[in-house]
Amino acid sequence: MDRNGLDLPDHLLHGLEQGHALRSGGYRGRFAPSPTGEMHLGNLRTALVSWLEARRHGGTWLLRIDDLDTPRNRPGSQASILSDLMWLGLDWDGPAILQSHYRGRYHAWLSWLRRSGALFPCRCSRRMLLDHPIYPGTCRDRQQTWGWQGTRLPSWRLRVPAGDPHGSGDVILRRADGFVAYQLSTVIDELCFGITDVVRGEDLRASLPAQFSVYAALAQQPPRFLHVPLLRDQQGQKLSKREASAGLAPLRDAGLDAAAVTGQLAASLSLVEPGARLSTHELLQHLMHQSADAVDS
Ligand code: GLU
Repeated sequence: MDRNGLDLPDHLLHGLEQGHALRSGGYRGRFAPSPTGEMHLGNLRTALVSWLEARRHGGTWLLRIDDLDTPRNRPGSQASILSDLMWLGLDWDGPAILQSHYRGRYHAWLSWLRRSGALFPCRCSRRMLLDHPIYPGTCRDRQQTWGWQGTRLPSWRLRVPAGDPHGSGDVILRRADGFVAYQLSTVIDELCFGITDVVRGEDLRASLPAQFSVYAALAQQPPRFLHVPLLRDQQGQKLSKREASAGLAPLRDAGLDAAAVTGQLAASLSLVEPGARLSTHELLQHLMHQSADAVDS
């Protein structure tokens, strides 16, 4: 049995087949925050766009919590993400998906990729690679071991063919600290959860070449991607999760309700006039009417 020419063990094949079946049922989007702190208005605005796109298409919208990088997780932030989304009226379908529940699956993919010769161990330090925006292939053809050397493990890199059009270089799929890399877990999840459309922040556009290389290595079709411009503060700076001031709490404390905040976010996207107050479902209706009018005229 195989899917697109890969000689896969049954359990991996099964995950892909399931995702493939889900994808053929229509639009499936997702929002995938990391529980590394409170969400700021920029994260919420991206979530709003992702939700609107899914709902506009009559699709499914999943919430995935990217909690694999445990040292970066902050206690309480998962709960605050869920409650902020609910407060704003961004309802997701099914239970939230925790990546930490799927560690076995990512590691099974890593083992398979390693056995099939698609990976190599790399012992380059961050500092050695500082001057190379794209990995220069230093460890590619060295006969290295996969085990500890002193106190250090190698990272595991994907051998990306020289003529690869995406220009990602050899992507790290398992980090030197042993954690599964985001570039692998996100691709496996889009495939296994049957995601057709990823709507996320502009800051993640830079990870697209790496992700395309992973899809290519797995001989799978990537979803469609839409990257949403980041909300900036008055000084034009990116908002940071570390500044609680940029989140919902101060607005709620100042007495704003969800309709006022939704209005503000929608106005910042020029979807409604400044000062509008409306629920996320009213905003959705408003946009659906607008696009129906555009088709009629
Ligand atoms: N968890 C990642 C982040 O918050 C985003 C994943 C994605 O949308 O691809 O930066």
